[in-house]
Amino acid sequence: MKYDTIIIGAGIAGMTAAIYLKRAGKSVLVLESKMQGGQIINTINIENWPGALGISGAELTENIHAQMIKLGADFEYEEVLSINKTDDSFTVKTDDGEHSSKSIVIATGTEPRKLSAKQEQDAGERTISYCATCDGALYKGKPVVVVGSGNTAKHEIKYLENIASKVYHIHHDDPIPKDAVAVFVAIGRIPNTKFLENLVELDSKGYIKASEDCKTSRKGVFVAGDCRTKDIRQLVTAAGDGAIASQAVVDYLG
Ligand SMILES: Cc1cc2nc3c(=O)[nH]c(=O)nc-3n(C[C@H](O)[C@H](O)[C@H](O)COP(=O)(O)OP(=O)(O)OC[C@H]3O[C@@H](n4cnc5c(N)ncnc54)[C@H](O)[C@@H]3O)c2cc1C
Repeated sequence: MKYDTIIIGAGIAGMTAAIYLKRAGKSVLVLESKMQGGQIINTINIENWPGALGISGAELTENIHAQMIKLGADFEYEEVLSINKTDDSFTVKTDDGEHSSKSIVIATGTEPRKLSAKQEQDAGERTISYCATCDGALYKGKPVVVVGSGNTAKHEIKYLENIASKVYHIHHDDPIPKDAVAVFVAIGRIPNTKFLENLVELDSKGYIKASEDCKTSRKGVFVAGDCRTKDIRQLVTAAGDGAIASQAVVDYLG
């Protein structure tokens, strides 16, 4: 089957695009490599999603996923490896096969930046975590280390200070203290766009070049959410992009 649109990534941006496209009467396939919900999934209390006086990332994204399925979007757990343009359609190659569509919405978000090779070697068998809220409780009364120098690192340190016996704070590439049993990494995020290098223009950090209209350098390929060049990466801006990208798809399909 050739879909009107294939959406890559089931975070807030991708799932919002699916809701809008289904309501516009389009056939939609959403492909997700991990868990639907994206990077907000482990956040326990979101305080800035309008209309909810506090909601967990898991509940919010489960609701949006259910809404998208109820409206008739097809959904598969597959990782997209490459996209090729052939005449008037796109072939999307995944770890489980191939799909075809008339247009594409990229909503692949970002992932945490990894430790340097030197620090990873230094960490050896010790646990490496990217989320103190998710894993901190496992290290009650034990020494841990936080790597990073930005606001996220400060937040992780504050959180862990109530749990661990000691929280070391080091920067990217510093040696990891010998007695720390777990390494919490907070050194920023990188866009999930490596597989798109030959399809659309990326900026020097790997973000997909696009403005508020969510149009990429390639006709028929649209982008929504944190993986595009933008100033504010938040849930509401990701959802807003989903709506804008879907309207651009509708206009493109004619
Ligand atoms: C710890 C934390 C707390 C936050 N708290 C808040 C908050 O309180 N309020 C707020 O507004 N914002 C918050 N944010 C920011 C917010 O989570 C993001 O702005 C938003 O989730 C971005 O949504 P997205 O859909 O663009 O991307 P993502 O949520 O990153 O979703 C992208 C999805 O694409 C999938 N994917 C990637 N590559 C592929 C591929 N090749 N094939 C298939 N699927 C793929 C990923 O698995 C992922 O599910 C927080 C972020 C973090 C990390």
